[in-house]
Amino acid sequence: MIPLSSLKPGQQAVITQLPADEQLAMRLREMGLLIGTTVTFVRCAPLGDPMEFRLRGFELSIRNNDAAQVLGDLVDQNREVGGSALPVVIPAHVVARSKTKTVLSISHNAPGSPLSHTRETVSSQPKSYAVVGNPNSGKTTLFNALTGLRQKVGNYPGVTVEKKSGQFIGQHGEKIELLDLPGSYSLGAHAPDERITRDVLMDLRQDTPQPSRILCVIDASHLERNLYFITQVLELGLPTVIALNMIDVAKAQGTPVSAEQLSAELGVPVIPVQATRKETLLALRLVLSRAEVTHSAWMPHLPSQLTKATDAVAAQWPTAGKATHDHRKPRYPLDPLVRMKALILVSAADSEMPGLALELGAGEALSVVLSERATLDRELQGWKEKLVAARYNGIEQLCHVAQGGTHDASDRLTQRLDDLLTHRLWGWIFFLGAMTLMFVSIFTIAQYPMDWIDVGFDKLSEWVQGIMPAGDLRDLLTDGVLAGVGGVVIFLPQILILFFFIGLLEDTGYMARAAFLMDRVMSKVGLHGKSFIPLLSSYACAIPGIMSTRTIENPKDRLVTILVAPLMSCSARLPVYALMIAALWPSGTGSVWTKGALMMGLYLLGTVAALFFAWLFKKTILKGQTPLFLMELPPYRLPSLYQIVSQMCQRAGIFLKRAGTVILGISIILWFLASFPKMHVPEGTPEPQEPHERSKTEQLQQSFAGHIGRTLEPALAPLGMDWKIGIGLVAAQAAREVFVGTMSVVYNVERKKGDAPDMLGETLRKQQRPDGTPVFSPLTCLSILIFFVFSMQCVSTLAVVRRETNSFRWPLFQFCYMTGTAYALSFLVYQGGRLIGFH
Ligand code: GDP
Ligand code: MG
Repeated sequence: MIPLSSLKPGQQAVITQLPADEQLAMRLREMGLLIGTTVTFVRCAPLGDPMEFRLRGFELSIRNNDAAQVLGDLVDQNREVGGSALPVVIPAHVVARSKTKTVLSISHNAPGSPLSHTRETVSSQPKSYAVVGNPNSGKTTLFNALTGLRQKVGNYPGVTVEKKSGQFIGQHGEKIELLDLPGSYSLGAHAPDERITRDVLMDLRQDTPQPSRILCVIDASHLERNLYFITQVLELGLPTVIALNMIDVAKAQGTPVSAEQLSAELGVPVIPVQATRKETLLALRLVLSRAEVTHSAWMPHLPSQLTKATDAVAAQWPTAGKATHDHRKPRYPLDPLVRMKALILVSAADSEMPGLALELGAGEALSVVLSERATLDRELQGWKEKLVAARYNGIEQLCHVAQGGTHDASDRLTQRLDDLLTHRLWGWIFFLGAMTLMFVSIFTIAQYPMDWIDVGFDKLSEWVQGIMPAGDLRDLLTDGVLAGVGGVVIFLPQILILFFFIGLLEDTGYMARAAFLMDRVMSKVGLHGKSFIPLLSSYACAIPGIMSTRTIENPKDRLVTILVAPLMSCSARLPVYALMIAALWPSGTGSVWTKGALMMGLYLLGTVAALFFAWLFKKTILKGQTPLFLMELPPYRLPSLYQIVSQMCQRAGIFLKRAGTVILGISIILWFLASFPKMHVPEGTPEPQEPHERSKTEQLQQSFAGHIGRTLEPALAPLGMDWKIGIGLVAAQAAREVFVGTMSVVYNVERKKGDAPDMLGETLRKQQRPDGTPVFSPLTCLSILIFFVFSMQCVSTLAVVRRETNSFRWPLFQFCYMTGTAYALSFLVYQGGRLIGFH
C-alpha cells in the first residue's frame, strides 16, 4: 500500500484506504473516490502542489497533503486496464433488457409500467421546473436556449451561484417557468451555492416554493459522475425530465449514451440534446409541455441496516407547517423527501451534525439520528463507505446498460493542452503572455474607437453651443452633461476588450487551470485555488467576484476572499488608470509597451495587495486552517464567440446605463456645485461673452464644490493632490469612473474651434498650480494611481458585501482598511518621491 501522493505520472492505483478525517473522506467518496476505485495520477501543478488525478472519466485536483492520506495498491498496468476494480454485478433483468431491442421511446407515462408512477399535476397551475445538475453540465446554456435569456455561462464550476428564473411558452401556448440553480455534486451540499440548490429542492426556503417538477441536466460525457447527484434528486420523488446534454462531446469521445436505455432504467423521460444548438431542443420542449410527467422509482440497494436507520429517523421527523399529518404519529408510507433529509443527516460528519439538523428542520428527530448512528457504528463496519458505494454500484450498472460500461476515457486534446498550459515553465509563460497581450491590446486596438467617440462628443458639444443661446442651461449641457458623460463613455472600447479577454479565459476552461496553477500560492496565504477564481473575475468587477465566493465552503475563507476581492483592479478603475497614464506622457509619445507594462504593474500591485491582506487576515482576525481543495478540471472547449459577444454587449449595456444614470446624475450635481453660488460681478462691468480661464478658476474656487475641495485640501496636500483633485475623489466615492468625468467637468477648459480632438489627459498635463508648476506632475499622477489601486470607492460593492456577509460591520471594516491603506501608501509614495528628488 502506498499513499497516492507518491505515485508517478501515469501510474494507477486501486484505493484501499481513505483519510481518517470524516469530512475529507466523505467529500472524496462523493466525488467517486471509493475503496476499490482505480485512479490515475496525471500530473502535479507547476509549483508541485496540488495533484491532478483521473477517475471515473474526469479530472480531479487534490492537494498533496490530502492525497497523502489516501492509500492504494499500485496497479500493474501491463495486466489491467479499466475503470473500476470492483466487479460490477449486473442483475439478470438488466442484461436481458439490454440485449432485447427496446422499443420504449422517450414517452414514459404508460400506466402500469413497473417503473413509472404517474403523478397528476393540476393543469391550471403554471408548470415550473427547477433546472439542476452537476456544475458545468450546461444547465445555464440550456436555460438560456429555452427562455431566450442571457444568463452568464462559463466553462468552469461555480459560474451560477444564485437562482434565476425565466419562462418559455410551451407546446399548448401555456407559460412554463424554469428556475436555473447553482450546480451541485451532492444533495449533501457542502458549499453555500450547493445549499441554495438543496434548499430549493427540499422546500426549505421561505422565498421559493418547492418546484412542482425537475429538469435534470446530465453531461453525457461524464455520465457516471453526473448520475451520483441526479439519482439523489430522482429519489426525491418529484416528476422529473432528464436532458442528456453534450451528446456531441460524448459521441466524439467514442462513448455515446443511449437515452432510451437510460430512460427505461430510470423510468423518466431522457431526452438527448445539445444545449449549444437550439434546433436540438424541440423534443425536450415537447416533453416539458406534457400535462403529466412521471417520477422515478430508481433506488440504490442500500444495506438493510441503513434503510432501517433512515426509516426510523424519517418516521420521527417533525411535520412543521404541513398540517395534514398528525405529527405524533409516524407516517407511512414515508414521504421520499423526508427520507432523503433523514439520509443526509444520518450520513453527515459529526462536526456538521448540529448545524445541518437545524437547517433541515430535524427537531426532535436529532436524538433518533444519534442513537441510530451509534447502532450503525456497532452493527455495520464502514457503513458510510457502504452507503456511497451502494449508490455508485447502482450507477455503474446504469452506465453498463446505457453506455456499455463505465469509461475512463478522457479528452485527448485536453490532455495535450494541459501538458503545455500547466507545464512548470510554459504554463507560466503562457499565463504572463496572455496577461501582457490583454493589457497591450487595451492600449492599441482601443485607440481608434476611442478617438471616434471623442470626436463625436466634441461635435455634439459644438452643435449644442451653436444652436443654444449662452446661459446656464447651455453650460449645464456642455460643461456638465456632455463633459461628464463623454469623459466616461470614451473608455467603453477598453472595457469591452477587457471583457473579451476575460470571456475567452472563462469559456475555454482556462480559469480552472489558473486556479490549479495558483493553488500553491494561495495556500501560502491560507486560502485555496478556488479563491483565485473570484479574485480573477474581480478584474472585471468585484460584484460578480464577490458573488462567486459562494462556491467556497469554509465561511472564514469566504469572508477573507470577499474582503480582499475589491483590491483586484476592476474595470471601473481602468478609465482612471488610462487617464493618469495618458497624463504622464505628452500626446503621441510614450510606447504602448511602457504604458501596457505600467498598467499591468498596477493590476499586479492590486493582486499582490489582495494576497497580502488575505494572508494578514488569515493570520489575525479570521484565523483558521488552510482549507480543503477539491476541484474538477473541466475539459477545454472551443469558446463560443456568440457567448462572449453576448456577455460583452451585456456589460456594455450595464456600463452605458451607469453612464446614463449615476454618472449623468453626479455630473449634473457636480456642475451645479461647481457653478453656484455665482461669482459676484461688480455692477457696471460688462459681462464677458466667454469667461476666460482665470475667472473660471475663480468661479470654481468660490463655488460649493470649491469649498468642499478646499476643506479637504489640507488632508490631500501631503499626497500631492490639490483641491480640484479632491473634488474628484469625493465624487469617486459613488463609483470610481466618476473621477474621470469629474476631471472633465472641473478642468473643462474651452476648446477653440478647429482644435484637434484633444484627449482629457493632454488637458490635464497643461494644468498649472498658482506657482507655475504642473498640477499633474509624474509624482502626483503616481500618487493618484496608488490611491485608486487601494481605496474602496464603490457604493454598489459595499452594498453587495453587506448582503453577502449579512452585517454592516464587514463592509465598514473593508472601507476603512482599504481607504486607510490607500491614504498611507499615497502619502509614502509622494513624500518619499520628494525626498529622493522627484517632484
Ligand atoms: P452550468 O455550470 O451547468 O450552468 O454550465 P454552463 O451552461 O455554464 O456551460 C458550461 C460549458 O459547457 C460552457 O462552456 C458551454 O458553452 C458548454 N456547453 C453547454 N452545453 C453544451 C453542449 O451541448 N455541447 C458542447 N460541446 N458544449 C456545451
Ligand atoms: Mg450555470
